[in-house]
Amino acid sequence: MSDTPPKVAVVGLGRMGSAMARRFGDAGHELVLWNRDRSKTEAVAADTDGKVAESPASAAHGVGIVVTSLADDSALGEVYLGDEGIVEGIGPDTIAVDTSTVDPDMVTRVGDAVDATGARFLDCPVSGSVSSVESGALVVMAGGDPEIVDRVEPLLSSIAKLVVHVGGRGAGSACKLAVNGLVHGLNVALSEALVLAEKAGVDRGAAYEVFASGAGGAPFVHYKREAYEHPEEAVVAFTLDLVAKDLELITGLGSRVGAPMAQANTGLEVVHATIHAGLGGRDLSAIAVYLRGEPG
Ligand code: NAP
Repeated sequence: MSDTPPKVAVVGLGRMGSAMARRFGDAGHELVLWNRDRSKTEAVAADTDGKVAESPASAAHGVGIVVTSLADDSALGEVYLGDEGIVEGIGPDTIAVDTSTVDPDMVTRVGDAVDATGARFLDCPVSGSVSSVESGALVVMAGGDPEIVDRVEPLLSSIAKLVVHVGGRGAGSACKLAVNGLVHGLNVALSEALVLAEKAGVDRGAAYEVFASGAGGAPFVHYKREAYEHPEEAVVAFTLDLVAKDLELITGLGSRVGAPMAQANTGLEVVHATIHAGLGGRDLSAIAVYLRGEPG
């Protein structure tokens, strides 16, 4: 068996996909790259010696693993099932690994279409942020055949500290929506707690020091510290538009499976109000900016 790491296509080079591609390149994988906005493909290709593909189909053709990182269900559908989509180019020796946060029903549709080509498919959404990709600290929730999960684990280990096989097709996406219900709940709670402390006369930095050091000091509270304390300089790690997408998927799944989602529904109202105030493209920590009543 060859020791050469498999050739990897990365399709979708947004914040997460481009960080993933750079890590795969650093780990010695030859790269093929495609993004809808070609300027992002060219930027990553220049940094990684990756090859620029003309379409998702040509990116997927002849590689060992295709990793996709796409905004939402509609992007996933277009990139896999559309004209010159991955399903048109993928062959039986290739494994497709989708890391996007999308509806379990959508990954089931896409995975079934990939199966029909003889290739293999896993839903592998991720928990963490761009900084977690860069430090190899994501948590991956893998849905699909455990033998295929084992085959992609060496690649995933370059971006993740943990790969958990959570069940069959769609289980990865369902678990991702569940864990994001927790994270987005924490984000709204953190915003409210900080603005409460500030409006009651407590210094922002002192309040955050207490939050980060106390019982609620989860990793999220730690790695969002700079963004919360200095919102005017916050790097956009995850937009509020994508938070709304997540919460719509979370509450939708809750309705379908009969799980009560009162907290997520309330969080979605707060996020929608923040987006309506013009902050949809800002980092998710900008909920506190909205709650302070500051201009966007
Ligand atoms: P992003 O920077 O907004 O990137 C989104 C990607 O989707 C871009 O490559 C974009 O292409 C592509 N895209 C959107 N619509 C498309 C379409 N119709 N056809 C083809 N491509 C399309 O988002 P991100 O933060 O990297 O997130 C990517 C995924 O990872 C999302 O599902 C997100 O929920 C999930 N995620 C993100 C984080 C995070 O911290 N950022 C953490 C965990 C999971 P263009 O460049 O051409 O617009």
